[in-house]
Amino acid sequence: MTATLDRITRVEISSVTLPLPTAISDAKVLTGRQKPMTEVAVLFAEITTASGLEGIGFSYSKRAGGPGQYAHAREIAPVLIGEDPSDIAKIWDKLVWAGASVGRSGLSVQAIAAFDVALWDLKAKRAGLPLAKLLGAHRDSVRCYNTSGGFLHAPIGEVVERAAESVAGGIGGIKIKVGHPDNAVDLARVSAVREEIGDGAALMVDANQQWDRPTARRMCRALEPLNLVWIEEPLDAYDFEGHAALASNFDTPIATGEMLTSAAEHRELIRAGGADVVQPDAPRVGGITQFLKVMSLADDRNLQLAPHFAMEIHIHLAAAYAREPWVEHFEWLDPLFGEHLRIESGRMHLSPRPGLGVTISDQARAWTVARHEVRA
Ligand SMILES: [Mg+2]
Repeated sequence: MTATLDRITRVEISSVTLPLPTAISDAKVLTGRQKPMTEVAVLFAEITTASGLEGIGFSYSKRAGGPGQYAHAREIAPVLIGEDPSDIAKIWDKLVWAGASVGRSGLSVQAIAAFDVALWDLKAKRAGLPLAKLLGAHRDSVRCYNTSGGFLHAPIGEVVERAAESVAGGIGGIKIKVGHPDNAVDLARVSAVREEIGDGAALMVDANQQWDRPTARRMCRALEPLNLVWIEEPLDAYDFEGHAALASNFDTPIATGEMLTSAAEHRELIRAGGADVVQPDAPRVGGITQFLKVMSLADDRNLQLAPHFAMEIHIHLAAAYAREPWVEHFEWLDPLFGEHLRIESGRMHLSPRPGLGVTISDQARAWTVARHEVRA
């Protein structure tokens, strides 16, 4: 039997500006480090092969960085032409070497991520399988929690109302933002949501890196009685030692990792013992190929996994993780896709469609601000 070969004949990249319905604030805005977020820049990659298959992938940037990701992707895209799309590891290396001068983390690998995700989508479509099943799934649904209702720009009454709506709609947990300059405000907001959803419901908080070590210790202690599923990013994302100390001194699990932009950075976090719950983000670490390395590192240490954002990709990866993970529910990207994930009984369900199971919507095409095509 001979191997099935194919080759990449066309690559299209597009930059889409997704407007958000309201300006979003987390603790980084309250400490003055960032402005409220009004849009998300999404980088799509569409890869077509000689045999007529097509893969779709995406990466993204919040606030600055979208035009830079697009420009880097445009420069390195010609490297893909003529390659067998099944040779994903080889192609990742070629893409990273093409831009080696600007490094193997951050913006350069986030541009590669769009291509890498498209190649995995294409491979799963070739196999006629949802991506999770191609990877080797443990489950066909994953626990999910909502984040989008719990930001700091929303008054507590609205946060409580959104939490109740989400739970009634079948969500499995609620995460709210903390990191208000007045710690008492945080504690009152978390207590109000706990009271609304009940003692047994899954509740998480996220400080978006805005506490210093003494504040984080004080808050972790104050929050212990609230029986949270985790406390997320209590400290600067690169303070691995600080996170490790919190993880060993308190019962509430510590979650972090969303800001890290390579598998190598996750390796350092995990080696330091800085996370009970690892939160990699496939677009941020360079795509699925790199995310799988992080999953393996986390699994070695028996850690929990809760990927950050981009649920359309992460449901497949979480479904393939050994320990029961959590997927983060954000409806923000819904308008970009023709299909939407089903949430029921606390869980997000994999669709039976092959690949990622999504197509790019007409709305996404209408929001496209730049487009470039490379052909064989
Ligand atoms: Mg977070």
